[in-house]
Amino acid sequence: MTTAFAPGLDATHDPLSRCWVDSANAADTDFPIQNLPWGQFRADTTSPWRIGVAIGDAVLDVQATGLLDHADMARVLSAPAPARRALRRALWQGLQWGAPEQTAWPSALWPQQAVQLGLPCEVGDFTDFYTGIHHATAVGAMFRPQQPLLPNYKWVPIGYHGRASSVLPSGQGFHRPWGQTLPAGAAAPVFGPSQRLDYELELAGWVGTGNTLGQPIDLAQAHEHLAGITLLNDWSARDIQAWEYQPLGPFLSKSFASTVSPWLVTPDALAPFRCAPAARVPGDPVPLAYLLSAQDQALGSWDIQLEVWLQTAAMQAKGHPGQRLSTSSLRDAYWTLAQLLTHHTVGGCNLRTGDVLGTGTLSGSRPGQAGSLLELTHGGQQPLVLDNGETRRFLEDGDTVTLRGHCERSGARRIGFGPCSATVLSARSGPVP
Ligand code: MN
Repeated sequence: MTTAFAPGLDATHDPLSRCWVDSANAADTDFPIQNLPWGQFRADTTSPWRIGVAIGDAVLDVQATGLLDHADMARVLSAPAPARRALRRALWQGLQWGAPEQTAWPSALWPQQAVQLGLPCEVGDFTDFYTGIHHATAVGAMFRPQQPLLPNYKWVPIGYHGRASSVLPSGQGFHRPWGQTLPAGAAAPVFGPSQRLDYELELAGWVGTGNTLGQPIDLAQAHEHLAGITLLNDWSARDIQAWEYQPLGPFLSKSFASTVSPWLVTPDALAPFRCAPAARVPGDPVPLAYLLSAQDQALGSWDIQLEVWLQTAAMQAKGHPGQRLSTSSLRDAYWTLAQLLTHHTVGGCNLRTGDVLGTGTLSGSRPGQAGSLLELTHGGQQPLVLDNGETRRFLEDGDTVTLRGHCERSGARRIGFGPCSATVLSARSGPVP
């Protein structure tokens, strides 16, 4: 029996493939047998982290299957792409309905609800880019109505070095940050809890195989260095940011917390959803040669649909699951992840396993597609009226923000990312230095 698959696809993408874990066959699951994202889990806070893949509403303990003899996620992700691909394929084979493993592997399953999910991998360095051109244009217009986008934007992927130590797993709350802010019209700053706390809807590329110092990653090889993609919420204190950001960029306004989803969705799982990045508009410059390839222009993006949900404390108290605030897509990015990987290394910088590259806030071009409250409320000037009558200019204590993402197209099985969620806790009392 032979089946023809489109270029880049194989039996692991077959939409008809079924799993002996029943919940993986549900139409709306994020984790069918075609996904198999990597994550770290543990039974309780005193147990060591283990390597798992999400399958339906369960986690498969990969070490318990015998396919791995260690629990070192960085070691798994640092392997060359063909080895990572082979491991995914072995998992797919064992999880298929009727596979011999159907009798042995069930003992390696844990209910996702019963375990703690951690970061997908220990975070190396964290770089955040600014590829969401609609976000960059909308925010730029607030500060520079005459020139929303600076002249470099369409030539060079803009980014800054973020903070890895405060990248948090989904589900971990964080305290509203304290900092310096400059009240309107004031001559001197004040010190206190941020009053303009915001979220940012982003995706994050995680580095698998690194590169040697001084040896840049060629654009054509970039995806081979990508271990996978998660959702990323780059929490931002807008009042602290406005006062501190010039001339070197954001600092404490971003470094207090960033939340990532627990499951690393691999480029292999995403293969059916490759697509062209949004076309550059007429008059845009052609990227410099090191950032330009026909392959990247044709298939350098993935059709990943994104959503932001807000559940206020009042909603939670009434058992209300929250309200969707906006939707957008990775196709709203001006630069591809391959271009970001290549640009990051072009001067010689070495990327290492576990490094995280944020896309920047992904906002669409239309109202209702803004990836931050800064845009949805026009800098806090037009409060958002929620379905239950509450209003928001920026986040309040007790608010839970959840990002979601999925891929869907005819002829392929829908896959998802799982939620990226965290609750804003009240500012700690009196951290005055
Ligand atoms: Mn950001």
